[in-house]
Amino acid sequence: MLRTHYSSEITEELNGKNVKVAGWVWEIKDLGGIKFLWIRDREGIVQVTAPKRKVAPEVFKLIPKLRSEDVVAVEGVVNFTPKAKLGFEIIPERLEILSRAESPLPLDPTGKVKAELDTRLDNRFMDLRRPEVMAMFKIRSNVFKAVRDFFHGEGFIEIHTPKIIATATEGGTELFPMKYFEKDAFLAQSPQLYKQMMMASGLDRVYEIAPIFRAEEHNTTRHLNEAWSIDAEMAFIENEEEVMNLLERLVAYTISYVREHNERELKVLNFELEEPKLPFPRVTYSKALEILADLGKTVEWGDDVDTEGEKLLGRYMLENENAPLYFIYQYPSEAKPFYIMKYDGKPEICRAFDLEYRGVEITSGGQREHRVDILVEQIREKGLNPANFEFYLRAFRYGMPPHGGFGLGAERLIKQMLDLANIREVILFPRDRRRLTP
Ligand code: ATP
Ligand code: MG
Repeated sequence: MLRTHYSSEITEELNGKNVKVAGWVWEIKDLGGIKFLWIRDREGIVQVTAPKRKVAPEVFKLIPKLRSEDVVAVEGVVNFTPKAKLGFEIIPERLEILSRAESPLPLDPTGKVKAELDTRLDNRFMDLRRPEVMAMFKIRSNVFKAVRDFFHGEGFIEIHTPKIIATATEGGTELFPMKYFEKDAFLAQSPQLYKQMMMASGLDRVYEIAPIFRAEEHNTTRHLNEAWSIDAEMAFIENEEEVMNLLERLVAYTISYVREHNERELKVLNFELEEPKLPFPRVTYSKALEILADLGKTVEWGDDVDTEGEKLLGRYMLENENAPLYFIYQYPSEAKPFYIMKYDGKPEICRAFDLEYRGVEITSGGQREHRVDILVEQIREKGLNPANFEFYLRAFRYGMPPHGGFGLGAERLIKQMLDLANIREVILFPRDRRRLTP
């Protein structure tokens, strides 16, 4: 191997020992009789110190020929000394250039020269060389790890449902059409109908982590055209509260996991991530409208709370309840999809909820309607044709337990967790209205 240790693995026990480090040239300093080289790897930076008297002439001569972002490998002796900025240095015995970087660079990995988001995304491979950007993706990796650990700990089974589908989930909007041999098909906007069908299978508790595709027309800082959805569905529930309980524990577990395992990355981002307090407050839709009215914002009963309203409510909940995370529930039935169960004797409201994080929706969920005759009626009420949902309705005719679940947007969760301005920050290669490459 070209590398025996990452920069972060060089500890005092290695003092005087031989190691191999490798990475990208971060900085070079030439003081004549002594030359310095800083190499960046995934875990940090390591200093190579080359005094003329102590190193081979070919190594000494090579250092000034290096350019920023060349890929190099160094073999040398670890020397712990208070004189070195990082507390230690490596005295090189061998230095090899593995790959040259052209100049000028498309962007500055040290971050000293600021770049527009578009330039960064066009050169994402190099953007990731900036420690803050890499930190976000290390955190993202742990978010997915935490989510999987949590679900398995709770007895959920991971499933994978098709992403090429024939029918729209909730009507024909927001879908990407595609040709499927001689048929018309769409990219899946959600695994909703399929995960519900699995409730008729006896799997009982399922989750799926997969992309969703939505032809969102508008360029916003919280929408992508391809996003990752964390979906769960659970059977034999009594009400939507049980789903909310599971979801809040999932989100709290994930945040705690990141706090514990990404301490370094949070420091690089200079971000203090607070430990969430359980339970998250629950605010009924009607109460949310009252709070908004007091703040001078009118929302008609039955309408969705718009972006501005969500933001206002987010600030209110933070200032008054010290709650970055809270549920809105008991939504009007007209504002939610056909598959949500209405309240008995109060059909104008339904068993749907949203989870909000710093004033942005990160999850929608609820208890589903499992009684097929009522479900068919609700499909009709939304102006949809039950015949198009026959493949789904079949699963309700031969024994379907009461069930509920949610869809949690991974990028929304990470964006709001780190309080970032743009959702594009937390997905490697965002797909939006203009962006199809890289
Ligand atoms: P919004 O109203 O904010 O556009 P939505 O209500 O249409 O979202 P749902 O259909 O409820 O979204 O999807 C469940 C979750 O999936 C959302 O709460 C969100 O976290 C995520 N999500 C939905 N659409 C997108 C998108 N275009 N980009 C990123 N995440 C999304
Ligand atoms: Mg929603």
